[in-house]
Amino acid sequence: MSLPSLRSLLAVFKPEHSPGPPHDVRGGRFVVVIDCVLNQNVRDQGAANCPAMNFEFLRLCHENGIGIMQMPCPEIAALGFKRQRPPGTSIRQALDTPAGRLACADLAASVVGRIVELAEQGFRPLAVLGGNPRSPGCAVHQAASELSAESGVFMLALQAELRRHGLDLPFRGLRDASPELLAEDLQWFGQLSAATDAWL
Ligand code: SF4
Repeated sequence: MSLPSLRSLLAVFKPEHSPGPPHDVRGGRFVVVIDCVLNQNVRDQGAANCPAMNFEFLRLCHENGIGIMQMPCPEIAALGFKRQRPPGTSIRQALDTPAGRLACADLAASVVGRIVELAEQGFRPLAVLGGNPRSPGCAVHQAASELSAESGVFMLALQAELRRHGLDLPFRGLRDASPELLAEDLQWFGQLSAATDAWL
């Protein structure tokens, strides 16, 4: 997977009339994350990799003063908690249908609406953090600055919706199925946090 440089990732849209920071201690930055990073209970049977949440990620956010926007699980939104689908159909196949893509597009529109609202107040969205490489809804695979077709159905809908609103956020999977890959992803996020200013 080729990854764009941090510098290229930091070019996000800047609202024309950002009101600037309010007079309190908030940090002004946030990251957009998939549901199961903070609640493993939403994962499909056999897919949880820790009892509750990715605490190392939470610790990084806390230490760097970064808020977290948690997105609802797209598989549950489209297929229900049990990922209901015809026998012999994979979750990916069930999600990559007109109905599944519509559910993901609706969810993406709702999430991006919240991101835009915060950005218009001057709060800075740092990145979208998705899931493992084989996640039907949330895998992140990149070809230059584009997500490639094997990415999760929801991630593809989310990038398209963000770009419709002039937002070009970096995407990265938090690949917790592999301790080595997860360590790389957390290191990347730590570097991104250190390289971005608060406030747009
Ligand atoms: S679809 Fe996304 S949010 Fe839902 S369990 Fe899978 S990776 Fe997590």
